[in-house]
Amino acid sequence: MKGLAKDLAHLVGPEGFSTDPEDLLVYRHDAIAYFAQGEPAAVVLPKDTVHAAKVMAYASQNGIPLTPRGAGSGLSGGCTPVRGGIVLDTKRMKGILEINRGNLTARVEAGVVLAAFQQAVEAQGFFYPPDPQSKSVCTLGGNVATRAGGPRAVKYGTTVNYVLGLEAVLPDGEVIRTGSSCVKHSAGYDLTHLLTGSEGTLALITQATVRLLPKPPATCTALAVCPTMEMAARIVSETIAGGVVPSMLELLTTASLAVFNRFVTPPLPEEGEACLLMEFDGTAQEALRQAQEMAGACRDMGAIDVRVVPQADEAAVYWMVRSRLYPLVVSRFKRVVTEDVTVPRDRIPEFAAKVMGIAQEMGLSMGLTGHAGDGNMHPTIRMDEVTDALQARADQAMARVIKAGLALGGVISGEHGVGLHKAEFLELELGREQIALMRRIKKAFDPKGIMNPGKIWPPELAS
Ligand SMILES: Cc1cc2nc3c(=O)[nH]c(=O)nc-3n(C[C@H](O)[C@H](O)[C@H](O)COP(=O)(O)OP(=O)(O)OC[C@H]3O[C@@H](n4cnc5c(N)ncnc54)[C@H](O)[C@@H]3O)c2cc1C
Repeated sequence: MKGLAKDLAHLVGPEGFSTDPEDLLVYRHDAIAYFAQGEPAAVVLPKDTVHAAKVMAYASQNGIPLTPRGAGSGLSGGCTPVRGGIVLDTKRMKGILEINRGNLTARVEAGVVLAAFQQAVEAQGFFYPPDPQSKSVCTLGGNVATRAGGPRAVKYGTTVNYVLGLEAVLPDGEVIRTGSSCVKHSAGYDLTHLLTGSEGTLALITQATVRLLPKPPATCTALAVCPTMEMAARIVSETIAGGVVPSMLELLTTASLAVFNRFVTPPLPEEGEACLLMEFDGTAQEALRQAQEMAGACRDMGAIDVRVVPQADEAAVYWMVRSRLYPLVVSRFKRVVTEDVTVPRDRIPEFAAKVMGIAQEMGLSMGLTGHAGDGNMHPTIRMDEVTDALQARADQAMARVIKAGLALGGVISGEHGVGLHKAEFLELELGREQIALMRRIKKAFDPKGIMNPGKIWPPELAS
């Protein structure tokens, strides 16, 4: 693009952008490196909203595609610049602007890393529950843009339940402030939650006002090894319906126990089909009582091994292993294809059976973990070698898995978003009418179609 570097230097200064091919290389893909697509002409690192607005107005005037990017930890290809143009990297916008004790809210810039934010609020006795397992790198802006969530969703919900207001830059450079810092707000359309989950296709989010909770004083972890997936899922449904709601509830296949056994003692029996890893919170007494109640229910229902881990440092080891499972699997195989299909909680056993059946029929190695408390499952195909034929088979298998989830009343994505990977399935979930309506909304925000083009929509509609 002729003159781009000169124009950007004028708008944001030499330290605010790069067109160096070596710098640009990393912006070709998100955390799924093999899915690299497209190459930006420049990356801009705005230092504030004013910088971002200037660049976006310039891009709009010149019809240049814009792709917002947080940490690039996404798993759906959402921040890859498939039509080239400018990547807007929020890395330099990492201010925690306010932690308001009286109002239990915080205001942050979009590029704040989630773990840093959680530490900052916890140091003041507060709690920000949304917990995507990429929290050591992912940004609050990326979390808002994808409606990210994690194990705590079962009790506390996901990012969408905490966003009260946003500052965002529209594609033409206009700055809007949506929502408020009030807990209740019922004036006008809810643009805050329209932008939440919009995956960078409507606007650049520059600031978020989020709700905080008081930090629960204690937690207690429990683990149950179950002979069948069906039993694990039944334990989940029945205990939650009975009023014991864990603050985290993860379903793992027994294959994961070998990884736990590298770190925990005594070793867990590597038997059965599934394992439940749970955390309860409240006062120390309450947390222990809930964990013990759950442990009793698991034993009564036939679990092979049940343990309660009240000590925080010992429990941290279990959760450290859980959060490292995906990176560990990725490091062990040549390629890993993972999805985030979500089904109603009571349909998990049927879904698990379908996934395993598809893997067997298609001769693929497939694992299944998930945030069982909310039905969000991660079927994961593990490839020892990479060939076009094997990738095509993996893609076919995942398409069948996604359709199996939909047939059980599920959704194509519980947390990663649509991005590129799931665009071809969007119509199956939403239908044509909703997609047509969403595209009219997109046109109202972005008449020139420069915001994150090529994403979300089914391929034949992608601009
Ligand atoms: C090991 C690992 C574990 C993970 N675990 C989870 C999990 O438990 N739960 C979960 O939900 N996700 C998980 N993810 C996926 C990912 O981390 C989340 O989707 C996260 O919210 C992405 O944040 P990010 O800052 O990296 O955004 P990016 O990947 O940079 O971008 C993601 C999308 O958001 C858009 N975007 C980013 N910033 C902005 C902004 N400021 N304004 C507008 N649009 C923007 C981008 O255009 C893109 O469409 C995991 C990923 C990895 C690698």
